[in-house]
Amino acid sequence: MTWTNWAGDESCRPAVVAQPGSVDELSDVVARATAAGRTARAAGAGHSFGDLVPTSGVIVSLDGLGGVLSVDTAAGLARVAAGTRLRDLNVLLAAHGLALANLGDIDRQSVGGAMSTATHGTGRRLGNLATQIEALDIVLADGSLLAVTADDPEILRAARVSIGALGIIASYTLRVVPAFRLRCEHHAAPLEETIAGLDEAVDGNDHYEFFIFPHAGQAWTKATNRTSEPAVSRGRLSRYVNDIVVENRLLDGLCRLGRAWPRLIPRLNRLITGLASDSVRIDDSYQIFPSVRDVRFTETEWALPRAACAGALRDMLAMIERRRFDVNFPLEVRFVAADEESFLSPSYGRETAYIAAHMYRGMEWAPYFTAVQEIALAYDGRPHWGKRHSLGAGDLAPRYPAWDRFQAVRTRLDPAGRFTNEHVRRVLGAVDAATHKGGSNVQHRIG
Ligand SMILES: Cc1cc2nc3c(=O)[nH]c(=O)nc-3n(C[C@H](O)[C@H](O)[C@H](O)COP(=O)(O)OP(=O)(O)OC[C@H]3O[C@@H](n4cnc5c(N)ncnc54)[C@H](O)[C@@H]3O)c2cc1C
Repeated sequence: MTWTNWAGDESCRPAVVAQPGSVDELSDVVARATAAGRTARAAGAGHSFGDLVPTSGVIVSLDGLGGVLSVDTAAGLARVAAGTRLRDLNVLLAAHGLALANLGDIDRQSVGGAMSTATHGTGRRLGNLATQIEALDIVLADGSLLAVTADDPEILRAARVSIGALGIIASYTLRVVPAFRLRCEHHAAPLEETIAGLDEAVDGNDHYEFFIFPHAGQAWTKATNRTSEPAVSRGRLSRYVNDIVVENRLLDGLCRLGRAWPRLIPRLNRLITGLASDSVRIDDSYQIFPSVRDVRFTETEWALPRAACAGALRDMLAMIERRRFDVNFPLEVRFVAADEESFLSPSYGRETAYIAAHMYRGMEWAPYFTAVQEIALAYDGRPHWGKRHSLGAGDLAPRYPAWDRFQAVRTRLDPAGRFTNEHVRRVLGAVDAATHKGGSNVQHRIG
C-alpha cells in the first residue's frame, strides 16, 4: 500500500500500515514492530508538507483512535484521543459548552499531528496549540504506555512538540475554554500601510493576520475578536459561493492559468486582490477560525522574532521581484505568544511572527522556498516543523536554547531510534547526544 500526504507530493511504500482501534492494540503494534526490527512512524491526517511521516517500516495510522475520553468542565480540561480530527473535537467540545482557545487555518488535522508540529493560529496573547497540553499518554518502543504529567516536566516539555520522534502519543489532556463567539472582519488594504501599521493591528485585535499576493501591492487583512453579538449566519448557498466557488474553485482556475502561462501571474494576482471585498462574519469560534482549503499547494513557514517581521517581509517581497519568481499563492503573516514550555516550539522563548510562503501544486517551488529560507535565517528564523525547509540538526541546534534537554529525553525514551525515519535523522540527528551538535548539514537548496 502506498501512503501519500495531503499535498500529494510525499509518499512511501511502508512494510506495514497498521490502524489500531484501542490503546492496547497500539501498544501491540509498536511492540511487534520493534520485535521485527522495524521503525514506526505515527500518521495523523497527512497534512504536513515534508517527508515527516514516510518510512519503509511501519506507519501507524491514528484514525482508529478518536473521540473525547472525558471532560472536566469546572477545571476546563478535556482528555482526547490523539487521532481525533480537530473538526470533530470542536463539535464534541461545543456539546459541553467548551472550545479550543485558538485554531489554525483549517480543522482537518489530527490532534496528535497538530500538537507534534506546533501547529498554530494567530493571536499575540495565544500560544501554539501544543501550549494547551496539560498531560499526555505515550506508547514507547517496547509497547509500554507512559503517562506523562507535570510531575515529569522534562518529558512533558519534550513531548509536546516532538514530530513523532519519542513514541506514539495515544491521548492528550488539553486545557479548554468556555465556548465563545467571534466577529471576523476581512479588509483589503494597501500593502505598505498594512506593514507600517502592523504593531497596532496585532496588539489591537485578539487574532490578526494578513495575506499578500506578490506583485499586487495589496494586503488582505483578517481581524477577529471575541463578541457577544448574535451570530450573523450565512445561508448554505452564500457559504458555498464564497468559501468553495470564490476561495477555492476560482483560485484554483486562476492558479492553473498562471501555471500554464507564468507571465500572466502578476495580472492574475491583481485580479484576485481586486475581487476581494470587505466582509464581516459573526459565528461560534470553531466556525470562524478554519477555512476550506481544497486547492492543493506546498508550503514553507518561518517563525521569526516578532520585531523582525516588517523587515523580513519587505526583504522577501523585494527578493520575489528582483529574482522574478512567478508566485501565484499569497504570503501569510500571523502572530503567536512566546511558548515558554515546549523545548522544540519554533516560538520557544520569544513573541513570534510567522511568515508562510506557498506554491501551487505542480509548480517549481524549491528555488523560491530556498530564497525565503535564506532571508528567514538572516532574521533568526526557525522553520515550522510540518513544512518544507532544508535545515539539519547541526543548523537547528543553535537555534533552540533547550535543544540538549530535548535530546536527553529522546535518548531516555527512544535510545534505539525506533521512531526515526530519514526526515527525523536529518532534522534531529541520530539518537546519540554526542552527535547532535555536529557541523551544519543544511542542503542550501530545498528540494
Ligand atoms: C491545507 C493546510 C493548512 C494548514 N494550516 C496550518 C495552520 O494554519 N497552522 C499551522 O501551524 N499549520 C498548518 N498546517 C500544517 C499542519 O497543521 C501540520 O503539518 C500538522 O502536523 C498536520 O497534522 P496531521 O494530523 O495531518 O499530521 P501528520 O502530517 O500526519 O503528522 C505530522 C507529524 O506528527 C507526527 N504525529 C502525528 N500523530 C502523532 C501521534 N499521535 N503521536 C506522535 N506523533 C504524531 C507524525 O509522525 C509527523 O511527524 C496546514 C497544512 C495544510 C495541508
